[in-house]
Amino acid sequence: MSEQQTTASASAAPMFKRVALIGIGLIGSSISHAMRRGGLAAEIVGSARTPATLETSLRLGLIDKGYACATEAVEGADLVILSVPVGACGPITAEIAPHLANGAILTDVGSVKAQVVRDMAPHVPAGVHFVPGHPIAGTEQSGPEAGFAELFDGRWTILTPTPDVDDAAVEKLRTFWEALGAKVEVMDPSHHDMVLAITSHLPHLIAFNIVNTAEDLGRVTDKEVIKFSAGGFRDFTRIAASDPTMWRDIFLGNRDGVMEMLRRFSEDLDELKRAIEAGDGDTLFRRFTEARAIRRGIVAAGQDTSAPDFGRAHKVAQPGDKRADADADASSASGGTAASGRSRS
Ligand code: NAP
Repeated sequence: MSEQQTTASASAAPMFKRVALIGIGLIGSSISHAMRRGGLAAEIVGSARTPATLETSLRLGLIDKGYACATEAVEGADLVILSVPVGACGPITAEIAPHLANGAILTDVGSVKAQVVRDMAPHVPAGVHFVPGHPIAGTEQSGPEAGFAELFDGRWTILTPTPDVDDAAVEKLRTFWEALGAKVEVMDPSHHDMVLAITSHLPHLIAFNIVNTAEDLGRVTDKEVIKFSAGGFRDFTRIAASDPTMWRDIFLGNRDGVMEMLRRFSEDLDELKRAIEAGDGDTLFRRFTEARAIRRGIVAAGQDTSAPDFGRAHKVAQPGDKRADADADASSASGGTAASGRSRS
């Protein structure tokens, strides 16, 4: 047993006796903060890949006990949350499966769902309720120090349970996410992946690509692209600052959804290219007007602010302010109250 520390965690009427966080980065630490805020767990324990993350998590009070090994962390837990890159979900589930408590709820927060279900479900023992999930909220920051309690407030979390799963477990996890501040929707995993391909994954691909293209140009023009970069480009650089491991796994995990959206995107881009080449202002005006209406719809739905520069111009960023310039997995997918700096993934 590699228990490192114990601190008291009190709660009047916690939903769960022991919550095990496997992976304590931006999302895991934000879940911990929000659980503490709501008094949702009598005890929060965790395990991370590196000792440094475990030590930081203990120091910040994100977990009451830390374990080097995930198998020890999940012992006796009635809720187990995997907050690791999606490519790691299958192998970790295989490892912890024999140690999961009967009646426990096992969930994840991965940005891709069909692959996670494929990788995790075969290992889940009878008596354990597997309910995959994805909070559409995030920032481009990583690690246990990046989290904050308000990350999920007013944002969507999508649950993608398989048809055979116990309804009571799904409802309990829904209530849990609502207590974390989120709005919850249940969806088929493949449908989730198609929706997120266009709202989050493709925008990130475009951001990664446009920033690299501009950087290549910048070398030629003595960094003029960077020096004179306007707000639009700076927003792309923020999205492109997201964690490379996480995004590599997302594109490998949602290949079908991303390829389908890339095909549609290329067709629409070709239409714009043809209009520019032909000097067809009517087509350009029509397409831009349609896009503008979509932006206004997002603001009207309360998923973003209409303030100039997404409200950031009016916010004086403090050192270490996690909300000042956010938006990662969530940045494009779920719309964030960008005024407070959040986004979705
Ligand atoms: P993060 O800040 O980079 O944290 C990842 C955590 O996973 C760390 O504790 C890390 O441990 C651990 N980890 C990494 N690789 C691992 C491996 N191979 N085996 C075991 N543990 C490993 O990432 P995050 O932003 O919290 O993302 C976690 C999950 O949430 C991902 O599946 C992502 O798709 C999803 N998600 C992200 C966002 C977002 O905007 N960031 C939004 C919604 C959902 P060490 O620190 O010890 O290396």
